[in-house]
Amino acid sequence: MAVIGMSSSRLEALHSWNADWTGLRVAVLGLSVTGFSVADTLAELGADVLVVTESADEEYARLLPVIGARLHTGPMDAVPDELVAFAPEVVIASPGFAPTHPVIAWTRGEGIALWGDVELAWRVRDKVVRPDGRPADWVLVTGTNGKTTTTRLTATMLAAGGLRAAPCGNIGVPVLDAVRDPSGFDVLVVELSSHQLWYLGLQVGGADALSPHASVCLNLADDHLEWHGSAEAYRDAKAVVYENTRVACVYNKADAATRRMVEEADVVEGARAIGFDLGTPGPSDLGLVDGILVDRAFLEDRHHSALELTTLDDLRARGLAAPHVVANILAAAALARSLDIEPRAIRDALDGFRLDPHRIEIVAVAEGVTWVDDSKATNPHAAASSMAAYPGAVWVVGGLLKGVDISELVAARGSSAKAAIVIGVERGDIVAAFARHAPAVPVFEVDHGETEDVMARVVELASGIAQDGDVVLLAPAAASFDQFASYADRGRRFAQAVRDRFGGGTGDDHDDPATHSHS
Ligand code: ADP
Repeated sequence: MAVIGMSSSRLEALHSWNADWTGLRVAVLGLSVTGFSVADTLAELGADVLVVTESADEEYARLLPVIGARLHTGPMDAVPDELVAFAPEVVIASPGFAPTHPVIAWTRGEGIALWGDVELAWRVRDKVVRPDGRPADWVLVTGTNGKTTTTRLTATMLAAGGLRAAPCGNIGVPVLDAVRDPSGFDVLVVELSSHQLWYLGLQVGGADALSPHASVCLNLADDHLEWHGSAEAYRDAKAVVYENTRVACVYNKADAATRRMVEEADVVEGARAIGFDLGTPGPSDLGLVDGILVDRAFLEDRHHSALELTTLDDLRARGLAAPHVVANILAAAALARSLDIEPRAIRDALDGFRLDPHRIEIVAVAEGVTWVDDSKATNPHAAASSMAAYPGAVWVVGGLLKGVDISELVAARGSSAKAAIVIGVERGDIVAAFARHAPAVPVFEVDHGETEDVMARVVELASGIAQDGDVVLLAPAAASFDQFASYADRGRRFAQAVRDRFGGGTGDDHDDPATHSHS
């Protein structure tokens, strides 16, 4: 135990890029884009790095010795002997490792420090500083849905206001890559998954714990229950986003759970709670008044006046007026306003903004039927918002449910569908939910078949049901990994099947963002 005491006092000193990291024994669990960024950073700092992973991508495996890190691959359902022999002083886990994973349980049981990549990034954030010597401000974005859109919106608004802003984190660029980017940034807009927040939660209350300028949890609904073990644990992880916030805790007035998180958070003296929703804003809120998006939080005379940001008509003209997109825009605007971005810059940012692919994307209008790809609706909460935008749609639903109960969604939205086409390996629960909650809606099943065939069969079935003026909506409410490589693969195959049937290009007409994110 004495050894552990010594190493933890050493860790207390490690709060800067310029601290002495040499020889620190760090085990890095997992070798994805995140795991590699961790290993690469630590190797550069002179630490003694062992990467432990079940199997390694060839390119990463080739690079590790080049950067000066070691690799152990092999089964991880028990703690590998190599890891025990290495006697790590710190274990840094990739976000895929659940708290119940045997190696995580061992790490905690042994009293070894357990970090995520974000903790390391925060500790070394002073690698590149601004001209005044301060590191970049951090703005944190989480929520069950809307994270990536809001992160991009916020970064775009900050950039339009003249700040050097980097969207990073769960969005696909590791925070460590942003921290180490030699060009330097004024603000990092960090998208955090519930997994990353769970790891950060282990540090709450510690010295120099992450302290963001502003933070938001956009909404909360059941997701990733298998990873967290319960809805409460998932909620508690999300709540960590507000801890130690310095200026603005942005919450969703339409989602009481997010307000409670702010009320319960330990924040820096003077930090304000800022609400947003689609209703009339009170002082300290952003919201809507007669079709105008307004800020009543970040202005002197907020008790008697409001600042116009943009209008719903303007957003409609840009394809950004779906209610959940407007909510994301208000949240992003709150974060941007907390950094003094002018309303004009917010309007400029929205001017050129396009939603990413597979997020309520119209892929074709053929024979009067509109085909919509919302493959990114990977949980019931997201699918509910797209079904709300397209009542009467032929709804393509199903996949991996991740331990989440889908019956509530079917009870709430099922009867508004013209028909349901159920895909995926876990069809039983969905079909039963329709029988129970929306018995009048015709339900068709696509057997768990070859990946190549699934979408062709979906499109064939849907074409037989949809008539002139109808919408066919892919909003699976589930993860894709049972039949597809990713949500992007699922969406691409849907769009391709539509084009194969009705004519059109190859479907390779846009870039896909990274597809490995968690929520
Ligand atoms: P995330 O990064 O959290 O997965 P995205 O911005 O990629 O979020 O959006 C994912 C999906 O979630 C979208 O396709 C849409 O169906 C849904 N969505 C986006 N924003 C919201 C919101 N504020 N409320 C509910 N659903 C949303």
